[in-house]
Amino acid sequence: MTEKYDVIIVGAGAAGMMSAIEAGKRGRKVLLIDHAKKIGEKIRISGGGRCNFTNIHTHPSKFISNNPKFVISALSQYTQNDFIDLIKKHNIKFHEKKLGQLFCDESAQQIIDMLLLECETANVVLKKETIIEDIDKQEDKYFITISSDKYFCDSLIIATGGLSVPKIGASKFGYDIAKKFNLNIVETLPALVPLTFSEKILAMCKELTGLSVEAVVSFKKIFFEEGMLFTHRGLSGPSILQISSYWKLGDDIKINLSPKLDIVKFLSDRKNSNPKHDINAIVSEILPKRLAHIICNENNVSGNICELSNKVLNKLSNSINAWAINPTGSEGYRTAEVTLGGIDTEEISSKTMMSKKHPGLFFIGEVVDVTGHLGGYNFQWAWSSGYVAGRYA
Ligand SMILES: Cc1cc2nc3c(=O)[nH]c(=O)nc-3n(C[C@H](O)[C@H](O)[C@H](O)COP(=O)(O)OP(=O)(O)OC[C@H]3O[C@@H](n4cnc5c(N)ncnc54)[C@H](O)[C@@H]3O)c2cc1C
Repeated sequence: MTEKYDVIIVGAGAAGMMSAIEAGKRGRKVLLIDHAKKIGEKIRISGGGRCNFTNIHTHPSKFISNNPKFVISALSQYTQNDFIDLIKKHNIKFHEKKLGQLFCDESAQQIIDMLLLECETANVVLKKETIIEDIDKQEDKYFITISSDKYFCDSLIIATGGLSVPKIGASKFGYDIAKKFNLNIVETLPALVPLTFSEKILAMCKELTGLSVEAVVSFKKIFFEEGMLFTHRGLSGPSILQISSYWKLGDDIKINLSPKLDIVKFLSDRKNSNPKHDINAIVSEILPKRLAHIICNENNVSGNICELSNKVLNKLSNSINAWAINPTGSEGYRTAEVTLGGIDTEEISSKTMMSKKHPGLFFIGEVVDVTGHLGGYNFQWAWSSGYVAGRYA
C-alpha cells in the first residue's frame, strides 16, 4: 500500500503534536507517527506530574544554542501567552509556582488530553507503536517505509526529541535522519542533570543526603540562585541542574552556601563581640547544623572563635561563600531532563524551522540545538517551534 499525505510528522511529543495541530488547522492532510505505546510520556512525567508548561518570563536569554538569536523568530510567532490562551480555552486550571513557572493545578495528563483533542479536531491521523524502517527523498517528496507500507508527503517534520530518559521512548532517530541528509549536528550532552563527584565530596554528599539549601551556584560568569540538594549520588536541585547545562568537564563550579551574608565580616564581627563563642555553633547559625559541622571539620577548626587566626577564618569563609568543587561527571541521560546540542541551527531557517538544504524537511523541539533553562522554557520551545513548522509545512 502507498498513501499520500501533505505532512508527515515523526514524534508525537510536545513539539510534534503542536505542529500536527497547526498543519491540520490549515487543511493539510496530516499523519503523526510515534513508536511509543503511550503518547506524551514526557509531558506526563514533567513537573512532578503537573507539567511546568511554560514560563511567563520567556525570553531568548533563557535558551542555550550555538546561535542564541535563533529562537527569537519562533518565540515571537507563538508566545507563552498564546499557549496560556490555549490552556484557558480548555478550562485547565493553573498556577505560578515561582519565578514565572506555570504548572497545572491538577495533572499533566490534562495537557496531553488537550493536545490529543486538538489533533482530533484538526483531523490529524495518529499512528502509535509504529516503527519507521526507512526515510528517503525522491525529487521533492519524502517517502517513509513502515513494514510493507509506504507513505509519502511534501513536508516531513522530525520531532523525535532528545536522548534523555530512554526508558520512555527517547531515541537518536532525529540525529540519524539529519546525518542521512548531510546536516551538521552540534555535539549532544545530557543537561539539566545532577552532577557527580569523586570520593571525598561524594562521601560528604552521602552524609548530607536529603539536605536542601538555598545557594548560588556559578560556572565562570553564569550563576543561578536556587535550591541545592545533597543526594547519595552527588549534588542536585534546581541551581545544580541549571549550571549543569553550562559546566564543562574538567572545570570547577563555585557554590556560595550563604549568598545573603558576607561571612568574612560576619565572623570578624563575632570574634570581636563574642570571642568565647564556639565556632561550630556560630557557623550553625547560618548553615544547617550537619553542614556546618562538616565544613568546620574539613577546615580543621574547633573551639572558641578567639583562638582562630584571621587567616584560618578567611579560609573557612571562603569554603562557605566560594566553595570550588570539581564535578567528575553527571548522572547522564538516565536522569537528564534535556539534551544539549542537536541539529545545528545553521542548517535550519529560524522563521520556518525548515532545512535550508532540503526544502520540505523540518526539525522542531528538543532535537534542534536549542536548550531552555529549567522552568517551563523547554516546553515553550516545543510549542513555539512546533507551531511555526505547522504553519509552513
Ligand atoms: C523528567 C522530566 C521532566 C521535565 N519537566 C519539564 C517541565 O516541567 N517543563 C519543561 O519545559 N520541560 C520539562 N522537561 C523537558 C521537556 O519534556 C522536553 O524538552 C520536551 O518534551 C521536548 O519536546 P519534544 O516534542 O521535542 O520531544 P519529546 O516530548 O521527547 O517527544 C519526542 C517523541 O518522539 C518519539 N520518538 C522518538 N524516537 C522515535 C522514533 N524512532 N520513531 C517514532 N517516534 C519516536 C517519542 O516516543 C516521543 O513521543 C522535562 C523532561 C524530563 C525528562
